[in-house]
Amino acid sequence: MSRYLSPRQSALVPYTPGEQPRGRTYIKLNTNESPYPPSEKAIQAAAEAAENLNLYSDPTCKVLTEAIAELYDIKPTQVICTNGSDEVLDFAFQAFCDENTPAVFPDITYGFYPVFAARNHIPFITIPLKDDFTINIDDYLGIGKTIFIANPNAPTGIALKVSEIEQIVASNPDNVVVVDEAYVDFGSESCVSLTGKYDNLLVTQTFSKSRSMAGARLGFGIGNEKLISDLHTIRYATNPYNVNSMTMAAGVGVLSDEEYTRKNCATIMENRAYTAAELKKRGFDMTDSYANFIFAKQSNLDGGKLYEKLKEMGILVRHFTAPRISDYNRITVGTKAEMDALLSAIDQILKDGLS
Ligand code: PMP
Repeated sequence: MSRYLSPRQSALVPYTPGEQPRGRTYIKLNTNESPYPPSEKAIQAAAEAAENLNLYSDPTCKVLTEAIAELYDIKPTQVICTNGSDEVLDFAFQAFCDENTPAVFPDITYGFYPVFAARNHIPFITIPLKDDFTINIDDYLGIGKTIFIANPNAPTGIALKVSEIEQIVASNPDNVVVVDEAYVDFGSESCVSLTGKYDNLLVTQTFSKSRSMAGARLGFGIGNEKLISDLHTIRYATNPYNVNSMTMAAGVGVLSDEEYTRKNCATIMENRAYTAAELKKRGFDMTDSYANFIFAKQSNLDGGKLYEKLKEMGILVRHFTAPRISDYNRITVGTKAEMDALLSAIDQILKDGLS
């Protein structure tokens, strides 16, 4: 830390992203990326856009915004495009929380929420998940704070029903409820349909997972026009060119190839069911995941040591040290071949032990 760092930021503990190893080739099951390449249409559109990189990107993100609006049958004014969904979440913390309106989210959820709160000097409270890692929706009814719920949740993959989210949204009419749907395309229900009915609901999504574009950094928010307009105010006060031209073009490209996205999601869901069944045969317990990852533990294997051993064997998964979940590992669902390699490694570990 330099002696110039503002005391306001000196206690900031940043988010720790999953490892992105360079050099050794791992089977990479640690950051919930898609194992499939981006759509050819996305790649081609990005390459064409590269020819005009001398110009700034369109700050209104017009074409992409219209394509997202068409996909969800909503108005373009209900959409904001951002640099990953991390950015729209950050904007939501800035726009809808302050000392008088703290943020609230579960104790076990996306690890960036407390960081966004801290960096923006926003107080927050966390509400423990139940012992089975489900959310007790009663905890959020009429709570009078800005609510952030990842649905499906991370790293558990457990999803609430739209009717349950609706109860939370309806019972907090004076507060914004942000539903982070980063993993919604892998089998759970989206709340986008509720955004026409409730002016306090913001849904966020990403192109990083189901659309194989994590490296392009593209996310978006959907909500009532006035909520979206507030987020644009924050955006124009931060970086009007937040989405670069190549990413914008790639986003339009992949949206014109929905069949490819749907096919990949279906395969990942199949691979998830296959891997979950095989892990169960090997004595693993896991949550009922609706995401592109499995959250699993084996009572005879220490979670941290299992992570280390798999890494040594060339397979990266994600281990969190928070006390309630330190027995678990979060395993991204990859191709069938990657899942078979994981299962073979686990067979070897179960045979030899974790020494
Ligand atoms: N929400 C959740 C729950 C996530 O796990 C992630 C990915 N780390 C994000 C949001 C952000 O994803 P991105 O910025 O790549 O859109």
